[in-house]
Parts: sequence; structure tokens; C-alpha cells
Amino acid sequence: MTGLDLMIRARRLVRPAGEVGGAVGVKDGVVVAIEPLDSDLRGAAVVELADDEVLMPGVVDSHVHVNDPGRTEWEGFTSATRAAADGGVTTIVDMPLNSIPPTCDVPALETKRRTAESQAFVDVGFWGGAIPGNVPDLRPLHEAGVLGFKCFLLHSGVDEFPPLDPDQLEEAMREISAFDGLMIVHAEDTHTIERAPRAHGGSYGDFLRSRPRGAENLAVAQVVELARWTGCRVHILHVSSADVLPMLASARRDGVPVTAETCPHYLTFSAEEIPDGATQFKCCPPIREAANRELLWEGLRDGVIDIVVSDHSPSTADLKCFDTGDFGDAWGGISSLQVGLSAVWTEARRRGFTLVDLARWMCQGPARQTGLGHKGRIEVGCDADFAVFAPEDAFVVDAQRLHHRNAVTPYAGRPLDGVVRSTWLRGRRIDSSTEQAEPSGRLLTRGGA
Ligand SMILES: [Zn+2]
Repeated sequence: MTGLDLMIRARRLVRPAGEVGGAVGVKDGVVVAIEPLDSDLRGAAVVELADDEVLMPGVVDSHVHVNDPGRTEWEGFTSATRAAADGGVTTIVDMPLNSIPPTCDVPALETKRRTAESQAFVDVGFWGGAIPGNVPDLRPLHEAGVLGFKCFLLHSGVDEFPPLDPDQLEEAMREISAFDGLMIVHAEDTHTIERAPRAHGGSYGDFLRSRPRGAENLAVAQVVELARWTGCRVHILHVSSADVLPMLASARRDGVPVTAETCPHYLTFSAEEIPDGATQFKCCPPIREAANRELLWEGLRDGVIDIVVSDHSPSTADLKCFDTGDFGDAWGGISSLQVGLSAVWTEARRRGFTLVDLARWMCQGPARQTGLGHKGRIEVGCDADFAVFAPEDAFVVDAQRLHHRNAVTPYAGRPLDGVVRSTWLRGRRIDSSTEQAEPSGRLLTRGGA
């Protein structure tokens, strides 16, 4: 094959069916050839990976709160997409809340797109929001290209993104199913949380008791039954309680269209090891016990949990209330976009998983989940989005050196396995290191490029 822009040769290509050696040819940003390692494929640019490097698909992180515009002091598109690029992430999907305005109608989506356009170092897609009263906005948002709709069943943490009550949830799901859209749900039941002991003070145990598994279990049961009644495709965000796994498996056996994700922090940390006052670990639903964590890993092994995405949800340091260490007052959200791939790899390899598993959970799965089928795989016809990853290399997380706007993360000081050596977007190495670097990310729409 002639006229290639780029040829990358790697002893280890991470492909859906397994690891193979190979030469990958890229033209116009798309993979056009995958040949054996000793192929004489030529390109205008040639990259030979080092012996300790593998070529993985770029990570697709479908759960990122960028907060831009409106709360850019928490995170913005420049800082978020730079962090993504350095962490091997080539596509992010932005959550509809924590920015102002939230993405609950088409003008708000246009505001987001205008804001992101000139800043994106990686590709960016958008979720819409489902809030009380915006059912008439759902179809126009779908047609404008959002990848699905997020809703809450309890207070979201920000007043401009209110939750749906059960009747509103059913109404929204009926509308979304009418155009075969996707509803993604923060599943914690508001009444259960209201009746639980209130979160206050520095004790992590007290915080955990304020967000019981029952709140998650009940909300997931409700969403599953609504999916059964309405036929609406649903996705359970950030599964933390392993109790819901048998319920999800059972629903799927019945043909209910439900998928689920979990996040690096639920797979890495455990409640037993979180020090009192360490609010950098606060997120909702919370990090639970070590035994629960191991059951989440079993859920990944069984395929009941489909994908692993960051739920990167940063804030400024003051909102984490480190002066008091009060879990009731602190912002609930964990910052991890740049370290997610290495964090999950560190824990996955200890449990006998492979890079093929890692790519299924963090690249191919989220791409399929969001309808971005041309992402997340090293395959002829797919975008040439890659992470050059050194799985045996290691580093210690230095929060100050991450591109996140705020240097607050529970991974600070933690040794992680797997170093992202470079990240490639549509066949071009992303340079996010200097102020002069030109962002070349694109805005993605449903089903489109
Ligand atoms: Zn989130």
C-alpha cells in the first residue's frame, strides 16, 4: 500500500481479539492497513515502538465533568483535554452539569460547543441533561447530536440541575425511547438518603453510612423496571454497590436494555484505608469496603459491568474543605482523568487481567456505549487514535504536575504501573505541552464523525 501518512510498527498491538505484533498504516487520520510485523508497509512518517511499549487504542472516557463555561476555575476544556491527552485519552464525553448553563436545551449545547471548539486537544462529545420540565427539549437535543441524556434521582450537588421524581423519570424515558435514545442515570434514591444519618464531620465511616448501599440498590431497581416498562435503553453510571450486580444480570437475561459502568476509584481504594478528614476521596456514591471492591472486579470479569470511566469531577481545593475535613460540607467528586488508565491497569494486572481486557473496558466498550463505533479499536476503518503505553514502566503520581486545573486527587503520591509515552489523535501525535501547542480535537456528534 502506498501514500500512507504514517506507519507505526509495534511488537504488541492491543486488538479486540488479542495482542499481536503488527504494522499499522494510517491515511487521512484513519487506519487503512494492519499488516504483520515484518511487512514492508511504508509511510511518510514511520514510528517504531520500543520493545517495552504497546500500541493501544486511545481511551474513550465517556464520563467527564469539564465545567466550562461557568465553573472553569474547577476545570476547563483546555486543562481537561490536555490532561486527557497526557493520560492516553483521545475522546472525552462531557457531562451536562456543573457547567453554567447545564446542557439541557439546544442553545446551551451550542454554548458548550462554541466554548470547547478552540480548546480541545482531544475529541469531545456531549451528553444532554434531563431535568424537570425539559421533555420538549430532549428530541431537539438528540437531533443536534448529543450522545444521550443524564438524569439524577436526588440532589445533584448543583441547584441548576435538579433531579427527576419517578413520574418525571418515566415521562422522560418514554420520550427518549420514542427516538431510541439512551438515558444515563445517577442512581441513588433520594428518600433513602434523607432517612440515613446525615454526613457531617471528618469520619469516613459516618460519611459511608450517610450514602448506604440501599440507596443505590433501590434506585437501580427502579430504573431497571422503568426500562422494562418503557423499552428505553438505560445505562447505570458509576456503580459503587456490588449488590446491584445480580439485579443487572437478571434484567439482562430478561432482555432489559441496561448497561453499567464503574470507575477507577471504586476499583482502587477501599473505605477501610481512607483516613478521616481525607475529603479528596469523597464522591457519590461513595467508595465502599474492600470486599465490595473485589465484587466489582468480579462484575467486570463476568461482563455485568461493561465499562470503566473516570467520573472526573474536580472542584477548587477550598470546596474540598481541607481546613475542617468535613465530609458533609466537602464537594463530592474525584479528580482522575489523567491517571485513570494507569490506575485501572495497576489493579487489573494484579488480578490477572490483560491489556485486552483493559482496552475492552476503557476504549472499545465506551466507544460502543456512546455510539462512536469508529473509536476505541485498532481496526481498519477506525480513527487512528492511539496510546503508546509502557505497561511495565511505573511512576508516582505528582498532583502538581498533572494538567488538571486543581492539584487535588486521591491518587497523589500513589505509585502506579503503566506509563503513557505518547498519545495520537487521527494519526497525529498530540502535543499538549506548551502554550503554543495547537488543539486539534474535534467536536463529535451522535453517529457522526
Ligand atoms: Zn459524574
